[in-house]
Amino acid sequence: MDRALKKVNRLAAGLDLEKPWKSAQAQEWDGITAEHWIQAHVPTAIGKELMRVATRAIFSAEPSEMSFLFFLSYVRSAETFEMLADVEGAAQQDRVRGGAFQIARRLAERIGMDSIHLSSPVQTIEQSESGVRIVAGNLDVRAKRAIVAMSPSLTLGIRFERPPVGRLTMARRMPMGSVTKSIIAYDSPFWRKKDYAGMAVSDRGPFGPVFDACLPNDERGYLVGFLEGEEGRRYALESEEARRTAILENLTRWFGSEAAESIGYVEKNWTMDEWSGGCYTGLMTPGTMTNYGYLLRTPSGRIHWAGTETATEWMGYFDGAVESGQRAAKEVMAGE
Ligand SMILES: Cc1cc2nc3c(=O)[nH]c(=O)nc-3n(C[C@H](O)[C@H](O)[C@H](O)COP(=O)(O)OP(=O)(O)OC[C@H]3O[C@@H](n4cnc5c(N)ncnc54)[C@H](O)[C@@H]3O)c2cc1C
Repeated sequence: MDRALKKVNRLAAGLDLEKPWKSAQAQEWDGITAEHWIQAHVPTAIGKELMRVATRAIFSAEPSEMSFLFFLSYVRSAETFEMLADVEGAAQQDRVRGGAFQIARRLAERIGMDSIHLSSPVQTIEQSESGVRIVAGNLDVRAKRAIVAMSPSLTLGIRFERPPVGRLTMARRMPMGSVTKSIIAYDSPFWRKKDYAGMAVSDRGPFGPVFDACLPNDERGYLVGFLEGEEGRRYALESEEARRTAILENLTRWFGSEAAESIGYVEKNWTMDEWSGGCYTGLMTPGTMTNYGYLLRTPSGRIHWAGTETATEWMGYFDGAVESGQRAAKEVMAGE
């Protein structure tokens, strides 16, 4: 696996950050899935399985569901595979105190709630030579330009008066990953007494990765885990009780019998969330990046496209979402 990761990092480093579809081997790599590459280049059975486990944890999808060029460009956008997968100094290191929604809440406070219309999904976007009209329930807004900041697959739920055909065709080729996130509560973080980190990754589910989710001063113990990809989809069809039972058995296998004594369980199936449609990000199927990649950020007249999928750095993450918003805002300010 180590050798495979070094190779993945080397191939990713050779990609053009802004236009990976222009790279010399783009056609070849976009013609195969990440699974195809793993089978051809990772010699051992355990190495192959570890690559699948890591891919599932990062993309919440099977390597067979995405183009290898997309897989590489995702790695490129974070610099290395380890930056995506690791904790210390990497993507999994930091948490937002009070929950990630604090970012949205605090930005909203700065903008002022008068300018923000919640629970008003946009139904229609019309555009003319001089402006756009956006209809969202009782809201009817006219503006010079619109920024659509959501995953490409969600844009398919909007009716466009003059449809940006290429962009929507691309969106149909960008399904979301599948993930259920679960938090299990305990009287205390018992695993720490055993000198365990509370972190585990396994090829035997239902959980893929599990992390210690306690804040520094928590007396109670919390573990957070993710049901991902094919196995996650299978468990999503079960009852919550069945999932909880399977998860506790899973944790007992890793952390001992105390793991069965949980005092609370909450979960969220992101695939069932109408306004998310899955997570963590939109994935490109083979052939999508080379045929449609150039449409990711290209404005469709007065409609500008943002959302983490359109970022060059940290695509699929909060940072990517911010980068995309700043880029789209600059486009709008540069327009008349
Ligand atoms: C379980 C989970 C864990 C994650 N963990 C991390 C992490 O640790 N670190 C990290 O960086 N990223 C993480 N992510 C990914 C992160 O959430 C996304 O990268 C980020 O939210 C993308 O931001 P965005 O603005 O592009 O899209 P979103 O946050 O998806 O925002 C799109 C918005 O559009 C709204 N919307 C949809 N349709 C309409 C419509 N018709 N009209 C109006 N509004 C509409 C939605 O309600 C939503 O609020 C995680 C995601 C999940 C699901």
